[in-house]
Amino acid sequence: MGIRENFLEVKKSIEEVLTKQGRSKDDVTLVAVTKLHEIDEIMEVIDAGATDIGENKVQELIKKLEYLPNSIQKHFQGTLQTNKVKDIIGKVSLIHSMDRISLLKELEKRGKKENIVSNVLIQMNISGEETKHGWDEEELEKTLDIVEQCNYVKVLGLMTMAPHADNPDDIRWVFRNMKFLFDQLKDRSFKNVEMKYLSMGMSNDYLVAVEEGSNMVRVGTKIFGQRDYSKK
Ligand SMILES: *Cc1c(COP(=O)(O)O)cnc(C)c1O
Repeated sequence: MGIRENFLEVKKSIEEVLTKQGRSKDDVTLVAVTKLHEIDEIMEVIDAGATDIGENKVQELIKKLEYLPNSIQKHFQGTLQTNKVKDIIGKVSLIHSMDRISLLKELEKRGKKENIVSNVLIQMNISGEETKHGWDEEELEKTLDIVEQCNYVKVLGLMTMAPHADNPDDIRWVFRNMKFLFDQLKDRSFKNVEMKYLSMGMSNDYLVAVEEGSNMVRVGTKIFGQRDYSKK
């Protein structure tokens, strides 16, 4: 199957869950993760109807930016080095990977300098996996305190990468806990925080994530096939 068919298939499978749950068909934003894929492949997915694309590396994203239509929402979801903030600020719609106070402070500092407000998601690691970036719930509270003092960073929700599981049912609890946390925060009121997006679910687990309340999924492999890591 080609990229178009894969994209439409993923979209349809999400809509089926949403319909079953009585949620609106456009309740979930599907971000096509294009890292390590070529421009012609990206154009193919845009042709098929993709409105949002996601990249992981600043350099790669910047190279691709000039080819992307303005109407496309650009997401950054990889580890963002503090010294790369200046290259990316103002160029993406949403940074999913706000995972350190030093990064928050750099976004605020650069934003102030250039008068640019960055939209970010707070990256959480509630499964406690050492290899994954992100905060636990206690650290989240401290982070929100600092966010409230910012003027150039706006938090629009939470993001997580669940641990890999051969059976995504085994990590359903991660998504469920994230949704619980998301709803709790939604009920509270913070300056510079609007709990709009819950970004969770990748190729292997996006349907379980949507079942548990995700409203933004990041899907690469299932649309484009395996990535060739030898290329970069
Ligand atoms: C690569 C990546 C994805 C997409 O992963 P697939 O398994 O290919 O769907 C999603 N989110 C993040 C943060 C990624 O780095």
